[in-house]
Amino acid sequence: MAEWEAVIGLEVHVQLATASKLFCGAPVGDATGPNQNVDPVTLGMPGVLPVLNREAVELAIRVGLALGCDIAEHSRFARKHYFYPDLPKGYQISQYDQPLIVGGGVWAAVDGAERFFELTRIHLEEDAGKTIHSSSASKSFVDFNRACVPLVEIVSEPCMRTAGEAVAYLKALHQIVVAVGASDGNLEKGNFRCDANVSVRERGATQLGTRTEIKNVNSFRFVGRAIDYEVHRQCNVIESGGAVVQETRLWDEAGGRTRSMRSKEHAHDYRYFPDPDLMVLEVPRRWVEEIFEALPELPRDRRQRFEREYALTPYDAEVLTQTVYRADYFESVAAATDDAKLAANWITGELLAALNKDGVELDAGSPVSPEALAEMLRLLIGGVISGKMAKQCFAAMYAQGVGPSAWVEEHGGQITDEGAIEQEVQRVLDANPGQVSAYRAGKVKLLGFFVGQVMKATRGKANPQSVNAIARRLLDA
Ligand code: ADP
Ligand code: MG
Repeated sequence: MAEWEAVIGLEVHVQLATASKLFCGAPVGDATGPNQNVDPVTLGMPGVLPVLNREAVELAIRVGLALGCDIAEHSRFARKHYFYPDLPKGYQISQYDQPLIVGGGVWAAVDGAERFFELTRIHLEEDAGKTIHSSSASKSFVDFNRACVPLVEIVSEPCMRTAGEAVAYLKALHQIVVAVGASDGNLEKGNFRCDANVSVRERGATQLGTRTEIKNVNSFRFVGRAIDYEVHRQCNVIESGGAVVQETRLWDEAGGRTRSMRSKEHAHDYRYFPDPDLMVLEVPRRWVEEIFEALPELPRDRRQRFEREYALTPYDAEVLTQTVYRADYFESVAAATDDAKLAANWITGELLAALNKDGVELDAGSPVSPEALAEMLRLLIGGVISGKMAKQCFAAMYAQGVGPSAWVEEHGGQITDEGAIEQEVQRVLDANPGQVSAYRAGKVKLLGFFVGQVMKATRGKANPQSVNAIARRLLDA
């Protein structure tokens, strides 16, 4: 029996985070009800003219630059015709033979190894409206809130071979478009959705097999399952003597299978032609340079920097750079504690575990602020609380919003008696005459050592501020 190889190419539609639509001033975003975010251009009224949204072009270019693509100096909009009630003009304004962005690619980690997946192109286009088919009444409804909303379509080469690669690619791509502020990437709202093109061929073959296209899957997990199912289905069709039909299929999550939706349309079906209402889009090089300069640090660069600068494991760096918010959170705790490793352990361990248990994302707002976590970790580093106490303290901070020092006041039983602390400090100084002379000779960093010794001797119960002050006074005497 032949050995089969899957070939996968993805088309991803990403909604750009603009305030208004691609060709008019109607707002984008949450509406109070259907058909609220509309105006004559959105509705395709006769006599209206589209005016290109500069912000959308800029966000698209940001995506292109983040993915190492070429930004075309001249690109064009084209009309793509099809007839469906969600498309009021009878055509969608897209780009065809001259897209804004070409080339580039996505780096993604597959089973721990970095791989590069090439892109074909990225173009700008407007979204369509939404049809809602009522199951009770024999009626359908159309909501144009989404119509004319700016999208980029990111088209990959048929360069993936497994569902795992496709999912890794999608996650990396998602991370990038969100990190550069081009999109909120909201999967539930359909602001990042994927069409998966799948074919199979005999391993070693150079020609591509006939593909099917699985439409609009908006969850990473579902894309993986849909591809796996489709690869198996196609192999079975061929092995049982049939041929794969080029068609568009839908993923049925409940049934765990893809279903045929319609035969695949070809480019000529769309009767593409340049939109005469829009000028050629000219993008000055200086503008591209300005956008490039203003790009934030990209997730992959940040991950590599975390490994280098903070000596984090690849796993920790990966987890901590998942979102910009997470990475910022970590860096502020690391800076405030001067102990990146400890900060990383507490965030990836205790904090993310607690949030995960509650099904909450760190980005949605942690009950423990980076400042509070850092304060608690400084108490831990200073020996004010033991590791065990730190966990109890953290639990109280997380669940009740208790401040770390308040918690220590209540539970720590710190030694605050200055006389007792002085006795303890003196004992430590007497026991370490070498370090005392070194300190007095200028090695003032040793203060931490003395404080640490006192904290150890008092089993973390001595008040660190007092220990600090008293140790300094005795040493400087
Ligand atoms: P469209 O789907 O709009 O007709 P294309 O023909 O350019 O557009 O293909 C779109 C996507 O399908 C691309 O991501 C491409 O890599 C992928 N693709 C094309 N041919 C195959 C194939 N035989 N197997 C798997 N993917 C393919
Ligand atoms: Mg397609």
